[in-house]
Amino acid sequence: MLNKVVIANRGEVALRIQRACRELGIKTVAVHSTADKKLPHVLLADESVCIGPPASAGSYLNMPAIISATEVTDAEAIHPGYGFLSENADFAERVENSGFVFIGPPPEVIRMMGDKIAAKEAMRKAGVPTVPGSDGPLGEDIEENQRLAREIGYPVIIKAAAGGGGRGMRVVHTEPSLANAISVTKVEARAAFGSDVVYMEKFLARPRHIEFQILADGQGNCVHLFERDCSMQRRHQKVLEEAPAPGISEEMRLAMGERCVMACLEVGYRSAGTFEFLFQDGQFYFIEMNTRLQVEHPVTEMITGVDIVREQLRIAAGEKLSFNQGDLRINGHALECRINAEDPKTFMPSPGRVDLWHPPGGPGIRVDSHLYSGYSVPPHYDSMVAKIIAHSDTRASAIARMHVALTEMVVDGIKTNIPLHLEILQHSAFKHGGTDIHYLEKRLGL
Ligand code: ADP
Repeated sequence: MLNKVVIANRGEVALRIQRACRELGIKTVAVHSTADKKLPHVLLADESVCIGPPASAGSYLNMPAIISATEVTDAEAIHPGYGFLSENADFAERVENSGFVFIGPPPEVIRMMGDKIAAKEAMRKAGVPTVPGSDGPLGEDIEENQRLAREIGYPVIIKAAAGGGGRGMRVVHTEPSLANAISVTKVEARAAFGSDVVYMEKFLARPRHIEFQILADGQGNCVHLFERDCSMQRRHQKVLEEAPAPGISEEMRLAMGERCVMACLEVGYRSAGTFEFLFQDGQFYFIEMNTRLQVEHPVTEMITGVDIVREQLRIAAGEKLSFNQGDLRINGHALECRINAEDPKTFMPSPGRVDLWHPPGGPGIRVDSHLYSGYSVPPHYDSMVAKIIAHSDTRASAIARMHVALTEMVVDGIKTNIPLHLEILQHSAFKHGGTDIHYLEKRLGL
């Protein structure tokens, strides 16, 4: 097993990694910004190194500072969590070139999957269905692009090949606006992602977002841990996730999972990863792969009993997967509510001191959070402060448990989106299951 791991992240995921390391007897190093000295994982870690100022550019995105902290503490490996440097191929490469283990896939696989055009191409080759589109970068020839859009059928969406975080996309409904939409997206993509390569896809009007979790040991063994439904979104940001996805047949689930596994073996994948699909009219369409641990991984852990972070650590230590596909079963249903420090109506961030923190509990409730009474939520980072996960034998019972949990918990001093979650849980369409990705924004009147 690994001896010492650097946790290159903050908040709840850093604590999640800290706990997994502790269970395996791995020592930890928390690298943190000056704003994060009092995070629980920093206090619990064996060692901590302050790597820079509150702004992420100088700390959590500061590659030389993280690598030298790894050197001075004599650690062996770096876990990047999610966000920050977790999908940065250059970082993974620098970690490996410095003689350390990057807890994630090989840098070249991260690089390929980070290019959405290359990723789609790889998936097509592996037999994974993709959204119909340009199958490559769009050229300068306007007539050719118009011909292509007509062939695909309007509406189409123009997307940046290097895009992420729901940015760098534009929907086009009619031919007269196509040329302008392409050039504007190119300019934005260059500014935001350093590349103006864009491609075209059919815009699906009312898809669901369904994703498959996989685990690969890089030694020829790969499994899928079934799917999650993350259709409850606002501004392309997931709000509430669940597993399994309502209404997906066992046959379809296994067929898609198997294709994802084949694709992983083909590209030489290692560690945890997620294949994201849009699902409409009974069809799956691949949109992208996330080459890291995801925020919503706990719902999968609850229904499979697999500790995904522990597996990542074991795989990074060179161990083989200790189970195969036949050992995995879906047990019940799980939901996750992302609790953000924000106004539930305006969505304005609400950082500040948490005067009282009282987490929920009881059967089937899991709380992943770095909050405690007296902790001050800094204004510099993502507003997510807790994840409440509810597990039960049926979906209806998991919803009921989540409802009780959210009414029990207390987060005094800051505003949170708990009222929004309570409202969603009572919507009849949500209770029925299978709402599309536009449902929440429509309900909110956005
Ligand atoms: P990002 O890397 O920025 O998250 P994705 O390619 O995963 O970009 O797309 C983000 C979201 O944008 C999707 O979850 C979906 O809501 C919407 N989207 C992307 N492509 C399409 C499409 N072809 N049709 C409809 N919606 C899409």
